Amino acid sequence: MPLTPAQQAEIDEARATPRPTLRAVAEGIERHLYVAHPVLDHGLVRVIDYMGDDGAIVQAARVSYGRGTRAVSNDEGLIRYLMRHWHSTPFEMCEVKFHVKLPVFVARQWIRHRTANVNEYSARYSILDREFYIPAPEQLAAQSTVNNQGRGAVLSGDEAQRVLDILRDDAMRSYDHYEGMLSQEGQQGLARELARMNLPANIYTQWYWKTDLHNLFHFLRLRADAHAQYEIRVYAEAMCRIVADWVPLAYAAFEDYRLGGVSLSGKAVEVLKRRLAGETVTQETSGMSKGEWREFEGVWGK
Ligand SMILES: Cc1cc2nc3c(=O)[nH]c(=O)nc-3n(C[C@H](O)[C@H](O)[C@H](O)COP(=O)(O)OP(=O)(O)OC[C@H]3O[C@@H](n4cnc5c(N)ncnc54)[C@H](O)[C@@H]3O)c2cc1C
Repeated sequence: MPLTPAQQAEIDEARATPRPTLRAVAEGIERHLYVAHPVLDHGLVRVIDYMGDDGAIVQAARVSYGRGTRAVSNDEGLIRYLMRHWHSTPFEMCEVKFHVKLPVFVARQWIRHRTANVNEYSARYSILDREFYIPAPEQLAAQSTVNNQGRGAVLSGDEAQRVLDILRDDAMRSYDHYEGMLSQEGQQGLARELARMNLPANIYTQWYWKTDLHNLFHFLRLRADAHAQYEIRVYAEAMCRIVADWVPLAYAAFEDYRLGGVSLSGKAVEVLKRRLAGETVTQETSGMSKGEWREFEGVWGK
C-alpha cells in the first residue's frame, strides 16, 4: 500500500469531518473523496475536490436558475444529446481535482494534456523517496514485432529475471548515488535540484491535477484506450471508475459515444453502404489506404 500510517491518519481525519453545504453534492464521488486508490506498485489516484454533478451539466445547458424540476430521463436524454453533438461547454461546468502518484515516464505522457492545472512535488525543495516502478511479471514484455509503439510477448524464465535484476539494480544504485551526493552536514555535496538528475524515469513523482469534465473525458478517451501504454492506462481506468460514480449519466453517454463508439471517414461510410447493398468491397476498390483498411476491418470485420 503506498500510504504511510501518518498519511492514512490525515485522510481518515479529513473524511471524519463532514460539513453541510448548499452546493451540489454528488453522493457517488463523496465516497471517493480523499481515498487513495492504488495503481501500479507504488502509485495512487485520489479525489481531493470536485464541483458539480450530472445536474450541473443540464443546469448549464438550460441556463437554469435552480436545480430544475425535470425528470432524470429528460436529463439523461439531454446529456446524451450534448455528448452526441459535441456540445461540450456544459461538461466544462464540472471540475475535479486529483492527487496522483505516478512514475516520471508516465508523468511525461500525462503532462502532454495541457488543458489541466498541475502542481508537482518539488525535487528542488524535497528529497524524493526511494520508490521505483518495477513492472509485474505479466507486464515485462518484449518489443512488439507488429506495432512500433507497443509490447509483444511476455518475458519468462532467465530472460525475465535478467531484465528484472537490471531494473532493480539500476534503480537502487542510482538512488544510493543520489543520497550519497546530497548536501549533508560536514560535507558539501550537491543541491537537491542537481542531485536528482541521475535518477531514472521509473522513480515516482506526485502532483495535484485539476481539470474539467470535458477535458477529462478527452484525456480518458485517449489514455483508457487499448492503444495507450499499460502504465498510463491503469491510471485512466481507475479514474474512469471514479467518474462513473461521480456523474453516472454523463459517464454512460461518454462510454457509449466515445469509448465504445467509432468515428467513420466518408470513404468508410461509402464502403458500409456498398456492403449493405450486397457489393463485395476490397481494400483495392474501397479507396482507402492499407492502414485505413486494416483499422476499418478491425472494427467491421470482413
Ligand atoms: C496512443 C498515443 C500515442 C502518442 N504518441 C506520441 C508521440 O509519439 N510523440 C508525441 O510527442 N506525443 C504523442 N502522444 C501525445 C499526443 O500527441 C497529445 O499530445 C496528447 O494525447 C494530448 O492530447 P491533446 O493535445 O489533444 O490534449 P490537451 O493538451 O488536453 O488539449 C485538448 C485539446 O485542446 C486543444 N488545444 C490545447 N492546447 C492547444 C494549443 N496550444 N493550440 C491549439 N489547440 C490546443 C486541442 O484541440 C486539443 O485536442 C501520443 C498520445 C497517445 C494517446
